[in-house]
Amino acid sequence: MTAEKHAEVAIIGGGIVGCAIAYYVAKSGMDCMIIEKNDLASGTSSRCDGNITIVDKDPGFDSKMSLVSQELTVDLNKELELPFEYRAHGSILVCDNEEEMEAATEWVKIQNESGLKFNVLDHLDIREESPFFAHDIPGGLECETDSLINPYLFCYSLVEKAKEYGLKVHTNAEVTNISKQDDFIIETTDGTYTAKKVVNAAGVWAPFIGEMLNVDIPIKPRKGHILVGARQEPVMMRNVMEFGYLMNKFGRERKVDARTAAHGVALVLEPTESQNFLIGSSRQFVGYDGSVDINVVQTIANRALRFFPKMNDFNLIRSYTGLRPWTEDHLPIISAVEEVPGFFIAAGHEGDGISLATVTGKLIEQLIQGENETIIPIDPVRYDRFKVVSAH
Ligand SMILES: Cc1cc2nc3c(=O)[nH]c(=O)nc-3n(C[C@H](O)[C@H](O)[C@H](O)COP(=O)(O)OP(=O)(O)OC[C@H]3O[C@@H](n4cnc5c(N)ncnc54)[C@H](O)[C@@H]3O)c2cc1C
Repeated sequence: MTAEKHAEVAIIGGGIVGCAIAYYVAKSGMDCMIIEKNDLASGTSSRCDGNITIVDKDPGFDSKMSLVSQELTVDLNKELELPFEYRAHGSILVCDNEEEMEAATEWVKIQNESGLKFNVLDHLDIREESPFFAHDIPGGLECETDSLINPYLFCYSLVEKAKEYGLKVHTNAEVTNISKQDDFIIETTDGTYTAKKVVNAAGVWAPFIGEMLNVDIPIKPRKGHILVGARQEPVMMRNVMEFGYLMNKFGRERKVDARTAAHGVALVLEPTESQNFLIGSSRQFVGYDGSVDINVVQTIANRALRFFPKMNDFNLIRSYTGLRPWTEDHLPIISAVEEVPGFFIAAGHEGDGISLATVTGKLIEQLIQGENETIIPIDPVRYDRFKVVSAH
């Protein structure tokens, strides 16, 4: 085996999660490589938005883990040379009706109690935020620490720096089988690789990598659509979601029309740095089918007009879909697998992989190093939590 095709640590998957792991592992001095079936950021990490948010996280562990990730991203913005369109303006959630407004006020209270910087916004605050907003929006809330990045650029930025620390990158190498002797033997469409440790960062495809080692990984693809607006005039500078996004994400009931409910549509409007607008999104379980459904596109456009009626005149350039790696409890798996020593999983981030990539990368580095003190508690993200559930 050539030095090129062997490493202490092999990371399978060159999405945002694999790239963040590669950065922290290479920086710590370990010999590591990425093995990616297509190109870097060719999976979900280039078919998504770029929000690094706490505003949409469940209060408690979920939101605190996101805060740690946000803080790491602030550091990376100073450390990485290739810019990745980092903007830290905070983000807002808008409410459709008074009932949601009550729930939002409660949400702010709970997040404030755990030390997070959330504020309630009233009707006038929303009007001041952007003249494009509908006049009947009762209010919403903001999270001051939320930020935006370009996830695609972020992957390249992380990898460029990691290469300076010795990272090897193998693209167009699809892993087809893995076995374990002293080392892991990783067969790919680009020949055989070996490694002492393997990290499965294959996003929605992580279950197929798991199967190769008889490890059952409970992740399902949850499809989302996004529409891309033509650059026209600035609508606003920070990310906007509707409160109903939270209801969708966590499977709670909302007061919306049947089509919006059926496609799991809730407004997300992300201003990119160039002031195109990414307008989303939907949530559907339709397997690995990534085709664009015009019915869903129409539903998303209609929902955007509820909050931004003046966007009726805007042109759309295109639409695309991505597959979110969903887990039943909405938390990722960032964990060693005890049955297969040396095998780690870093997948299942659903709609939060951009927000949580850096904390995942750092935690995996610490788990590989065998550190006792970790950057976040590991129990909520352990792989074996699912087995505990199924045993009862
Ligand atoms: C519409 C939409 C909007 C979103 N918006 C946001 C947002 O604003 N904020 C946020 O935090 N999250 C968001 N997400 C979620 C986020 O995009 C994902 O959680 C994240 O991209 C997952 O990253 P990943 O690295 O785990 O997976 P991926 O990016 O899919 O990377 C996995 C990689 O593994 C490779 N691979 C698979 N099988 C093999 C194999 N056999 N051999 C080698 N390589 C293999 C794939 O080619 C792929 O490149 C959104 C998702 C969608 C769909």
